[in-house]
Amino acid sequence: MSSPEFAYRVSPYRFIARYRNGKWEEGHLSTDENVILNESACVLQYSQNVFEGLKARKTEDGRIIVFRPDRNAARMRDSCIRMAMPPYPEDLFLKAVDDVIRANADVIPLCTDGSSFYLRPFMFGTDPVLGVRPASEYEFRIFGSPVGSYFSRMIKLRICDLDRVAPHGTGHVKAGLNYAMSLYAITEAHALGYDENLYLDSATRTYIEETGGANIFFITKEGKLVTPKSDTILPSITRDSILAVASGYLGIEAEERPIALEEIKEFAECGLCGTAAVISPVESIDDHGTVYRFFSDVTEEESITGRIKKVLTEMQEGSRPSPEGWLHEVTLA
Ligand SMILES: *Cc1c(COP(=O)(O)O)cnc(C)c1O
Repeated sequence: MSSPEFAYRVSPYRFIARYRNGKWEEGHLSTDENVILNESACVLQYSQNVFEGLKARKTEDGRIIVFRPDRNAARMRDSCIRMAMPPYPEDLFLKAVDDVIRANADVIPLCTDGSSFYLRPFMFGTDPVLGVRPASEYEFRIFGSPVGSYFSRMIKLRICDLDRVAPHGTGHVKAGLNYAMSLYAITEAHALGYDENLYLDSATRTYIEETGGANIFFITKEGKLVTPKSDTILPSITRDSILAVASGYLGIEAEERPIALEEIKEFAECGLCGTAAVISPVESIDDHGTVYRFFSDVTEEESITGRIKKVLTEMQEGSRPSPEGWLHEVTLA
């Protein structure tokens, strides 16, 4: 089950910008954590919303660093386009991230025990609609919440019989509606003792896709990293970073390709990855009573997953050099 530490805690300031009359107004910081909406706002009636998630970390020497925020800005732009929303300019997105961090610097925890300041940029259609159409007014916001790690132990997955997304649908987009689709299944999974659902491709139900909120990867018995290639999974920034760390820093062969459910028995290790989860080792996957176990001959630290996690975490915490452009340091006035 998710650690209670990954939870919303109100912070003093959030950023708010409004879109009206065809343009974005200059945003501002606010101390009011509540949103007031018309009862027929497009987001309430037709779920027109997108979001992002990224972490700021405070290092022991007092710096505040953010991991690849330009990728979140670009992904939110892509999500907006698919959801018929006006993208918030990427440079202003990055500036707003900095503003929220600076304003809340006092409540950002030290990253030494895995804590961070989780930033949640999001956007939603605000004006009243009844006939189906996109909103014409929007609100873009970023709030932050101090958090611990998402999963605090090895996790158990089950293959889910319900689908989260559709072929040619919105699986590649970070939209709340994909999560709404998963709430029934996650409640059921938790009640049965699993931490998360593993979704298959909904067209053929033979390929592995991802879990409700994190991408998945496997390590083969030969020590190669493989991760699903599909148009209907969310392009995880953590996963992109893991592929670069594995091949560029650890000399591990890494491949993105369709992965059939049938192949599961061939894999030695399995992990989930995402900003919230970072890298979470998977203990087992239950496919309708057939349970596949991982990490049977190796401790977590000695595993390939453990080695990748160590390098990636050190890069995210700024204690090890990372590729050019990955770390953004926030200048504190
Ligand atoms: C956000 C998200 C991820 C992880 O993406 P990161 O960029 O690594 O945080 C994976 N799957 C889904 C469905 C997501 O919404």
